[in-house]
Amino acid sequence: MEVLLRALRKDFPGILFKSSDDFYWSPKENSVYYTDAKRKSDLWSLLHETSHGILNHKTFGTDFELLQLELAAWEKAKRLAVMYHVVIDTNHIEDCLDTYRDWLHKRSLCPSCKVKCMQVNTATYRCINCNTAWRVSANRHCRPYRAKINS
Ligand SMILES: [Zn+2]
Ligand SMILES: [Zn+2]
Repeated sequence: MEVLLRALRKDFPGILFKSSDDFYWSPKENSVYYTDAKRKSDLWSLLHETSHGILNHKTFGTDFELLQLELAAWEKAKRLAVMYHVVIDTNHIEDCLDTYRDWLHKRSLCPSCKVKCMQVNTATYRCINCNTAWRVSANRHCRPYRAKINS
């Protein structure tokens, strides 16, 4: 972890790397937050969040766009992994993307009648069946279980 961090700091001086209790990319602070939890997947998460930074992912539009950003960041992370001699388990990537898709699906379900609905804008969904509207947060973390639906 330390070795990879040192290399990334050197190669991407425009990005700040800050110790935290979770892995995420903050476009506002131009910072990659990371943990020292010492899990096997930490290096992969670090490469993934750094990829969001390198690709300059800033705007979070519709859920479809969110998913595209996730895919792009993992593609980039795979290329970085080769450069830094890290082997990313592709099952891990698929698991992350599946959790992400699952989260997107869940938040598109109407809290009142459970009908799958269309997104009105970045933060709002409205039910075509019962007209309930609910807000969703722009999730910037890659582990979607942290996000919750605010109805
Ligand atoms: Zn409804
Ligand atoms: Zn991500």
